[in-house]
Amino acid sequence: MEIVRRIRSMKEICRQARENGRKIGFVPTMGSLHEGHLSLMRRVKELADVVVVSVFVNPSQFNSPDDFASYPRDPTGDADLCIAEGVDYLFMPSADEMYPPGSQTHVEVYDLSRVLEGESRPGHFRGVTTVLTKLFEIVRPTLVGMGQKDAQQAAVVKRMVSDLMMDLEVLVLPTVRDADGVALSSRNRVLTPDARQAATAIPRALDAARAAVDSGEREAVAIIAAARAVLEAEPRLEIDHVQLVVAESFAPVVEVAGEMLLLAAVKAGGVRLIDNTLLRG
Ligand code: AMP
Repeated sequence: MEIVRRIRSMKEICRQARENGRKIGFVPTMGSLHEGHLSLMRRVKELADVVVVSVFVNPSQFNSPDDFASYPRDPTGDADLCIAEGVDYLFMPSADEMYPPGSQTHVEVYDLSRVLEGESRPGHFRGVTTVLTKLFEIVRPTLVGMGQKDAQQAAVVKRMVSDLMMDLEVLVLPTVRDADGVALSSRNRVLTPDARQAATAIPRALDAARAAVDSGEREAVAIIAAARAVLEAEPRLEIDHVQLVVAESFAPVVEVAGEMLLLAAVKAGGVRLIDNTLLRG
């Protein structure tokens, strides 16, 4: 595996791969890699000829400098995991490389970026779509692997790819969880054992919502309340939001029907965690 730090080199490598008729699969990440990320790499490797992974803790998608500073980083461990997965190129640019002095262009998906996570974290999705536009332009992949764990991010990116007529396919892959149901996340690394234990209420809350739907509940408020009750019973968690939305549009569910997403964002010991589950009405 080759570690690439310069945009110019990464572009050249990808240009040559395309010229040789090789299909490029890409997995963008912020590092501190875990099985969730690895599952994306494995699937992309099955479908593409060349696998490029990026590790870049993108400053423009953080709302607070403290959150950016405390985000876990493990470049050596990340490289080892990528080697073990048979990744071809690991792109690790610096912030200056990605945002040279004078940069002032942003890419923003309007409506979808402003609700839910976007409302809790103003500017977050604008940072995500801006950095991904840059990364997609550098790598120009045929296929991009992303996780259902960040459901709204996946929807925002799909919208952008469609609106900007980008020539790539976004593959959204299932959430990988720990044995106790907690979704894997780089942020789990910074949880205290106590907060990690409290986080088990999140998948239980999603299960409670599913059980409500399965038992015939049709009222969105009641389904949300079933999930909230589980979270509220865990005093070590602070709820940010629990919402039931239409899977494609992220509009609030009025009448339970079709594919819906129950989305939860909570803080455990000050660390913000998100999770979601697909429900069928
Ligand atoms: P991040 O490094 O958190 O920006 O995530 C990089 C990619 O990995 C995103 O597409 C995430 O949705 C995906 N991802 C993160 N956690 C998981 C997980 N537990 N299961 C599957 N994909 C994940």
